[in-house]
Amino acid sequence: MTEVRHHRARKRFGQNFLVDPNIIDKIVGALAPGENDNLIEIGPGQGALTEPLLATTPCLQVIEVDRDLAADLRKRFGGHPGFRLYEGDALAFDFGKLGTAEQPLRVVGNLPYNISTPLLFHLLNYESVIGDMHFMLQREVVDRMTAGPGSKTYGRLGIIAQYHCRIDFLFPVPATCFRPVPQVESAIVRLVPHRQKPYLAQDPVFFRKVVKLAFQQRRKTLRNALKPLMDSSRLNELDIDLNARPETLSVSDFVHLSNRILTLK
Ligand code: SAM
Repeated sequence: MTEVRHHRARKRFGQNFLVDPNIIDKIVGALAPGENDNLIEIGPGQGALTEPLLATTPCLQVIEVDRDLAADLRKRFGGHPGFRLYEGDALAFDFGKLGTAEQPLRVVGNLPYNISTPLLFHLLNYESVIGDMHFMLQREVVDRMTAGPGSKTYGRLGIIAQYHCRIDFLFPVPATCFRPVPQVESAIVRLVPHRQKPYLAQDPVFFRKVVKLAFQQRRKTLRNALKPLMDSSRLNELDIDLNARPETLSVSDFVHLSNRILTLK
């Protein structure tokens, strides 16, 4: 076996490495990689998931930003014919070049928590070529993703994620499963992009903008939150309760609202 040098976990890259074999097995089991899967792992780190994944499926692509870890991974797995490493930032990565509608990507990763929300938004831009995503995230982020209207944790992340995907909370992961031990609890979540969306935003970029504005200041009413988007004298034409708080609106309410604003513009 190739000697792997000692690596000091880098905080700026959100490095908390999985060390618990039972949890690693459970994650690989939940993913259930198939022979012909188009699998990509984000942030393979020291290979805690990479190794068992390569033992179950013939091909695996990985993206790692840390140069030293990338060099170690190359040494360790480079001889494997199905292994391909991209060294770089997943936030700037063009996932569109790896997946197709016929061979959709299956994305997996114990994600660096400091970039999990922007990374998720970035990945959602490629939803048409993504089959599913399995992520380790902060428990609190998973709770926000799955929250419904009226809940304290409901907001922009949940609405955007649920607009694009079906989301399943799979299982919690205690902090003791990592080295270094993080300050927070974690969980595994599965996201499956909708092939047919239950409600369709005419302009998805505008929809994201409406949701963002609505939650920029949580205590605002819709009337105040929507002011930057349209002439306030026309707000009454929106057919919604303008005194409502944004957190009481469902995903479909937000889709209808953004579509309605577009027709009035
Ligand atoms: N998969 C390993 C495990 O489970 O032990 C490591 C997980 S660690 C929480 C996150 C990994 O993502 C680290 O290896 C880190 O270097 C890498 N990473 C951080 N930011 C990244 C980025 N922008 N693009 C790609 N990888 C990144």
